[in-house]
Amino acid sequence: MEEYFLTEEQKDLRALIKDFMVGEVKPHIQEVDESGEFPVEIYKKAFDLGFHTLHFPEEYGGGGLDFSTMGVLLEEMGYTESGFALTMLAIGTPIECVMHAGSPEQKKRVDQLIQNGGFAALCLTEPSCGSDSAALRSTYVEEGEEYVINGAKTFVTNAQESEFFVVLATKDKSLRSKGISAFMVEKGTPGLIVGKHENKMGLRWSNTCDVVLEDCRVPKSALIGEEGKGLRTALGALDPGRLYNAAISTGICQAALDEAVAYAKVRTSFGKPIIEHQMIQAKLADMAMRTEASRQLVRLGMAKLDAGLPATKEASMAKAYCSDSAVYVATEAVQVLGGYGFSKEYPVEKLMRDSKIFQIFEGTNEIQRMVIARELAKA
Ligand SMILES: Cc1cc2nc3c(=O)[nH]c(=O)nc-3n(C[C@H](O)[C@H](O)[C@H](O)COP(=O)(O)OP(=O)(O)OC[C@H]3O[C@@H](n4cnc5c(N)ncnc54)[C@H](O)[C@@H]3O)c2cc1C
Repeated sequence: MEEYFLTEEQKDLRALIKDFMVGEVKPHIQEVDESGEFPVEIYKKAFDLGFHTLHFPEEYGGGGLDFSTMGVLLEEMGYTESGFALTMLAIGTPIECVMHAGSPEQKKRVDQLIQNGGFAALCLTEPSCGSDSAALRSTYVEEGEEYVINGAKTFVTNAQESEFFVVLATKDKSLRSKGISAFMVEKGTPGLIVGKHENKMGLRWSNTCDVVLEDCRVPKSALIGEEGKGLRTALGALDPGRLYNAAISTGICQAALDEAVAYAKVRTSFGKPIIEHQMIQAKLADMAMRTEASRQLVRLGMAKLDAGLPATKEASMAKAYCSDSAVYVATEAVQVLGGYGFSKEYPVEKLMRDSKIFQIFEGTNEIQRMVIARELAKA
């Protein structure tokens, strides 16, 4: 990865992340990929270094880093292990919801919970709806000094170990988004049941479970922000989330490109290294262009967020382009490695499997294209 335009602080932080990823994560990549068992102890070591709260405000015990620096660091994490990076991202989203709309007491509580244990989760998607989140069916009713939540959530990242969950539920489905509120539900609350762990094709360093809410009672103080504004709160965390996702995808691009270039230099066919064959050269050049363009789109979006400017279009552009590029570059890397690319002896087949999900979550790439077109129509 190039050093240009990075501040000294960014270079130092990136070196710290790299040391951890190479020293603590890399030796276990294959074993976790095969077992699918959530490597909690490795994550706890990362929490000790504050990796999960890098963007969290300093007054609440976080690193207080700006978006641009977050982009650099998430690319570095994604370069070695995108499932690890996604786990960090997925802790940040529910925190972001509370930091954005929560009460001072909720913010303090989140700080305690995160410092003690680490994990957090966002429960938005349901078995019957993902992209159309305003159609969610989980309900809440007011009973005395409590809210009672019922429903089923699916694909909840980090659910198994989460200290708290941001849960979205509606008081009246006919109101669509205006009926939806967000609640902070702590681990161990009766009626909050973490279900089965998803057996996924990739991103096996991340934990993904169903969550069931069965007469789950929370105090009135669990409501995050105002009633009826929950979806806006959750979606408000999306612009940064999409750019974080794009940064991790860029890390996958760079990792796949590096593997392909290294292999193409030493593999020979027809009397010369395959990097001297024009068709391989064209592949590597296209892979490099996509990787660099991805990085620059992330930088543009992050710079806009740091400047306090709206970045909805740039975040969607980066999310869709970078994740499409990750799938493209990783798939081409498999091709450059030929039969060995298909073997688990080499890392590129895993990069190809891991890359796919980045086109799906945090808003599918079809949804990103709808958002981009909507923004273009507004101009
Ligand atoms: C590993 C993993 C982790 C996840 N983590 C979380 C999490 O922590 N919290 C959480 O709440 N969710 C999480 N999700 C859920 C994820 O955000 C959803 O899967 C995603 O939003 C898509 O929703 P869906 O699966 O219901 O697909 P659907 O919305 O059913 O979409 C199916 C297909 O139809 C397309 N489509 C839908 N509507 C349109 C349209 N209007 N125009 C064109 N095409 C359209 C989609 O793009 C997609 O290709 C996770 C998912 C996975 C797989």
